[in-house]
This record gives sequence, structure tokens and C-alpha cells, in this order.
Amino acid sequence: MPLKEKIVIVGAGLSGAVIGRELAQAGHEVEIIDSRKHIAGNCHTERDAETGVMIHIYGPHIFHTDDSEVWDYVNSFQTFMPYKNRVKTTSGEQVYSLPVNLHTINQFFGKTFRPDEARAFIDEKADKSITDPQTFEEQAMRFVGKDLYEAFFKGYTQKQWGCSPTDLPASILKRLPVRFNYDDNYFFHKYQGMPENGYTDMIGRILDHPNITVKLETQFHRSEGADAGHVFYSGPLDGYFDFELGRLAYRTLDFERFSYQGDYQGCAVMNYGDVDVPFTRITEHKHFSPWEEHAGSVCYREFSRECGPQDIPYYPVRLVEDKAQLAEYVTRAEQEASVTFVGRLGTYRYLDMDVTIREALDTARLYLARTAEGSRMPAFLHSPV
Ligand SMILES: Cc1cc2nc3c(=O)[nH]c(=O)nc-3n(C[C@H](O)[C@H](O)[C@H](O)COP(=O)(O)OP(=O)(O)OC[C@H]3O[C@@H](n4cnc5c(N)ncnc54)[C@H](O)[C@@H]3O)c2cc1C
Repeated sequence: MPLKEKIVIVGAGLSGAVIGRELAQAGHEVEIIDSRKHIAGNCHTERDAETGVMIHIYGPHIFHTDDSEVWDYVNSFQTFMPYKNRVKTTSGEQVYSLPVNLHTINQFFGKTFRPDEARAFIDEKADKSITDPQTFEEQAMRFVGKDLYEAFFKGYTQKQWGCSPTDLPASILKRLPVRFNYDDNYFFHKYQGMPENGYTDMIGRILDHPNITVKLETQFHRSEGADAGHVFYSGPLDGYFDFELGRLAYRTLDFERFSYQGDYQGCAVMNYGDVDVPFTRITEHKHFSPWEEHAGSVCYREFSRECGPQDIPYYPVRLVEDKAQLAEYVTRAEQEASVTFVGRLGTYRYLDMDVTIREALDTARLYLARTAEGSRMPAFLHSPV
């Protein structure tokens, strides 16, 4: 059977791999281009040469979802090992459990509260004079009061976003960020786990299809999409247009590696909430694979800062002025013929892996449906504005 029209996909991360696989299975010839030396985008994992520990090169990635189709999808390419993310934080010379829970509250205030007592106590501490919170700080103070806000939210948020919590919108903190029980599982989702052989192995298996070719170390420019039936672009939206309307703001991360013989911190993630500690957290990667045994250990101190032109964009900032600029880029993108912008960079949104996969599956299905009925594929599955 002859192949259907040629598809070019920019980016061999999760977005590109999942869309590519779906379209290859439907009979399309798929070419996937990535500027990096490796597949898997920011989910890339590789074994550390010194210790053999599996390293999450662009920061730790924990798979968690309520979406059973997505969970079945990832499990069809890799065995997922049980993993629960339990985060600790060092604040004011003590170590506490996160997210702020009954243990944290009792330890912090030197109490032995039961759930209802703690709830009433925190309610008492909450700043009720704030009725219409506008900023992150006001929202946090309204929920938990000054003491918990300053110990667990203020310094970390300031370091993560590089600005005062008084300059961030209240919408960042939608719900009461406190649990009145001893549940310290960071995520609420039904399914949680880690791919046994790492994300790059999993994504390699997704890409392993006779209709898919992958070209690494190849930079795509929009002038090159002309001979493709359709382009799915998971690179930066502003980069596609050569930043002609300015650069969308991102935060980037610097990772400072150090190795250790034994167990450095006893857990995978230790946050540092105090503002006089310059890094936000230390991650010890062997604890992300608790089923493996390694004598040596590798840790990374993580520093957050503004993203410059040569840096890797990590977190979209999305403050009011960024959204105005984004709207202009979205208008430009909607005028492009035969290009769909996908993924965390193509749509300028923070997307967890499960949401990335869900959107990639839906995008591929929409493309197949639109092609079958002869109608146009939109520039975005969901408007990023
Ligand atoms: C620090 C951090 C921690 C995270 N932790 C978690 C977590 O614990 N759990 C979770 O579910 N999610 C997590 N995520 C989110 C996860 O990283 C994303 O869901 C995922 O990477 C999105 O995949 P993608 O394919 O859209 O983008 P990417 O992985 O960024 O892939 C895009 C690819 O496109 C390539 N590219 C870009 N422009 C071009 C061009 N012009 N030419 C050629 N190639 C190009 C890039 O090299 C890259 O490989 C985290 C994200 C960050 C930043």
C-alpha cells in the first residue's frame, strides 16, 4: 500500500514521538528532526558514567496521571516501576515534610494536633483581612497566615520565579496548599511511577516504527517545511518566527553536579526554602530508581534564573505582558498554512508529561479525521492564550 502524505515533525520529545507514532501507524511517512544529539527532549535520561545511576538530565521527571488511556499507552512501551514522590524541605535549620501536612504543622508549631484541631488553628492564623487577593503573597497569607507562608512559600517562590511573590498573580495558588492528614505523597493522581529503563528508552520504543525516520543534530527552519504535507512543530513558538515580535519570557535552570559515596540526603528531592540559600533544591537521582542499587550517588543543586538567548527554556513565565506578546504570536501562527504548534514550547504552556501525551494523541487523531474529511488542521489543538 503506498504511503500517505509526508509529515515533518520538529522535536523528538514526547510530543513529537507520540504524534509521529500515531501517524506512522496510520500509514504516513514521518520524518522527525531534532537539533539535539539525543531523542526524548527534556525528558532525556542517561546512565551516569561514574556511578551507573540513571540521571534525568534536564531535571527530575516523575510520571503521574489520572488518565488511564495515557497510563496504558506508556505502559505498552515500558514497564513502570512503583515510585511515590515524597519531598522534604530544609527551612530555618530544620527538615520538614512537604506538601505542608499535619506532620509539618505539628513539627513547625510544636503541637500534637489532630486534623480538626489543626484546621481550626490554621484558620485562626489565616489573614482574614484579605478578602480579594491580587498577588501570590496575599493569596498565601489568606490561606495559611504569615508563619507558614514565610517558612514554606515565600523564599522558594522568590528563588523559583526571580521576583517577589507580591509581583506574582494570586492565580498561581488556586487552592489551600495544606493537608490536614499525614499524606506526604506529592501527587494526588491515581497512577504514579518511573520507567524501568528511563524515559529515553521508552521514547526510543515509541519512535521505533518502519515509517519513522529520526534526524538528530538538525536545526529546522520554517522555510524547510514547504515540501511536507504537514508540519507539527514542538519547538519554541517565538523561535519559529525568528523572534520577530520579541522573546517570550522563560525561566531556565542551572544544575551543579556533585557525586557522593553512599546516600547523600536520604531522599530524592530536598527543597531549600530559605532565601539566603541560592539554590532551590538538591535532587539525588538514585532515589528516583529505588529498585536499583548503587554504592555511589549523584546529586544536582538546582538554580533558577531568567532565560537568555543561549539558554534552554524551561518554565514559561506567562505574566500579563507575556500573554499579550503570546497573543500576537498566536495570531501569526494561525496564518501559517499546514503547520500545527504542539507541546510545551510550541504552545508556551507548562505541560506535565501525561498532558503532553494526551494532547499529542488528540492532535494526531484530529489530523487523521480532518485529512479524511478534507478539511484544514488548526494551528493549535487548544488556544494557548
Ligand atoms: C524542570 C522540569 C521538570 C519537569 N518535571 C516533570 C515531572 O516530574 N512530571 C511531569 O509529568 N512532567 C514534568 N515536566 C514536563 C515535561 O518536561 C514535559 O511534559 C515534556 O518535556 C514535554 O515534551 P515536548 O515534546 O512538548 O517538549 P520537549 O521535551 O522540550 O521537546 C522539544 C524538542 O524540540 C527540539 N527542538 C526545538 N526547536 C527545534 C528546532 N528549531 N529544530 C529542531 N529541533 C528543535 C528540542 O531540541 C527538543 O528536543 C518537567 C519540566 C521541567 C522544565
